[in-house]
Amino acid sequence: MTDGHIHIERGPYTLEWIDQFVNRAVEMGLDEIRLLEHNYIFEEFSPMYDSVRAYSEYVDAWFQRSAGKHKLADYLELIGLARSHQFPIEVKFGLEICYFKEFEGFIHELTKDKGFDFLLGSIHFVDDFAFDHKPEHWAGLDVDRIYRRYFEASFSLARSGIFDGIGHPDAIKLFGHKPSYPLSGFYESLAAELAKSGMYADHNSGAERRCPETASLGMDTELLGTLKKHNVTIITSSDAHCPEDVGYKIRELNNML
Ligand SMILES: [Zn+2]
Ligand SMILES: [Zn+2]
Repeated sequence: MTDGHIHIERGPYTLEWIDQFVNRAVEMGLDEIRLLEHNYIFEEFSPMYDSVRAYSEYVDAWFQRSAGKHKLADYLELIGLARSHQFPIEVKFGLEICYFKEFEGFIHELTKDKGFDFLLGSIHFVDDFAFDHKPEHWAGLDVDRIYRRYFEASFSLARSGIFDGIGHPDAIKLFGHKPSYPLSGFYESLAAELAKSGMYADHNSGAERRCPETASLGMDTELLGTLKKHNVTIITSSDAHCPEDVGYKIRELNNML
């Protein structure tokens, strides 16, 4: 079993910190973990966020609290150190990158030839709207339109050619908002685009852990079925931000496949 989406950002960049994630993974019966960091942790990516910060004071405050804590070189150094170390399970290193269409070239330039095992692209903003921070931020917004723009951005992400996988492909559902139309057409198009690009989909238990009242576990079963029909690889993950959450509901996610 694999946990394909684990953030180490809350601790120091040391082997001892990584060992805590590995130890928990062993306890949980995993044979592979994929560690990744949010791209915004690294100051080099800051220009990507000018627009979303200008759009919302809340996002600007969040960015000032959370972003730019490291240089990309700090993480690459940690990866180099970890690769010279023997772990009892497979440990891979990558990035989770916020997708903005206008920054495709910028992202590619910053990430190419850096030796990452994988790059995961995620939609965290829909036309500058940070949809996954607080449910009250959705008040008065056009849910049908947000869903449509979310999936349009997802198709674009899949076509960009810069990512190996797409993060939590239906995270837009996390606070329980539903469009007035069926999502089958979007699921079909997304699956076709991912298949064409040879990308995997991240089957992630993080939203359910965070919002058990409104978010079902992992991907919607219809979306999962559509991805399987198109032979898209599915990788289970916890979106852990601390060692204790490594492996969270990975067995249940696997049982859904
Ligand atoms: Zn994410
Ligand atoms: Zn994540």
